[in-house]
Amino acid sequence: MPIDLHTHSTCSDGSLTPTELVELAATIRLEALALTDHDTLDGIAEAREAAERTGIELIAGVEISLDWDRGGMHLLVLWLEPGPGPLQDRLSELQDARNGRNARIVDRLNELGVEVTLDEIVEEAGEGSVGRPHFAAVMVRKGYVPDIKTAFDEYLANGRPAYMPRYRLGPEEAIDLALRSGGVPILAHAHTLGLDNRQEVEDMLDRLKRAGLVGIECHYGSYGPDERAGYLGLAERFGLLPSGGSDFHGTYKTDVALGTGSVGLPVPASILAPLRASRT
Ligand code: AMP
Ligand code: ZN
Ligand code: FE
Ligand code: FE
Repeated sequence: MPIDLHTHSTCSDGSLTPTELVELAATIRLEALALTDHDTLDGIAEAREAAERTGIELIAGVEISLDWDRGGMHLLVLWLEPGPGPLQDRLSELQDARNGRNARIVDRLNELGVEVTLDEIVEEAGEGSVGRPHFAAVMVRKGYVPDIKTAFDEYLANGRPAYMPRYRLGPEEAIDLALRSGGVPILAHAHTLGLDNRQEVEDMLDRLKRAGLVGIECHYGSYGPDERAGYLGLAERFGLLPSGGSDFHGTYKTDVALGTGSVGLPVPASILAPLRASRT
């Protein structure tokens, strides 16, 4: 039975509650599920309760955006338990930076003639932390853009007019914090780093491996067989363990299915044991 080690709930920018997410995972017969909300472990307790009820293995995790200006560099930290800890203690700081950024996005959108308020965005996000997909959803609902993708392409993506930077942890700092907190640091969707060629990718993996990186996402939801094979080759070359997940966000990413992503390929359960064993 397949697994999924990269998912989001209503605690960040997914549309399913942690309980609904775990129940969907049970329905499609996943063996293990990692909940990896952006900058928060708030959904873990609820997800774990649902997982115990449905007989799924629930892995606590988080996804963190790192300081890297050429593109998006995201770190998944698996087996990061809620409670005190070096990385856990920094999450509230990252959430504060996110909130400050959100207010600046609203101001910029208003300047651009997109009339949205912070209250509307916060309401869209519900209980969870606010992310750009919530802005996108409000913009779609109010008719400024036809869909979420267009909201990013025209306004919210890095390099677009309503993109606003926020404080982020450096790659080495984040990996060190993850390791000291008992977590397993994994480089997510490396194709978003904005690197131009294979040499740059290899140099970056070398740098991150030296910092203590443990894994790299090879079975990502948008990767076909060739991309998966390419990342598996890089993983082997740099002594990194392959990870995989869909990056499921529910209605905030309509083309991404839990377990199989947008390409329709499952994540093999065989990758889980080596990742788990890396902790000891
Ligand atoms: P934030 O955490 O607020 O910076 O927003 C990050 C979220 O926006 C992640 O869930 C990404 O998947 C999503 N995202 C980032 N860039 C894009 C894009 N170009 N198109 C669609 N979604 C994106
Ligand atoms: Zn997200
Ligand atoms: Fe990500
Ligand atoms: Fe994600």
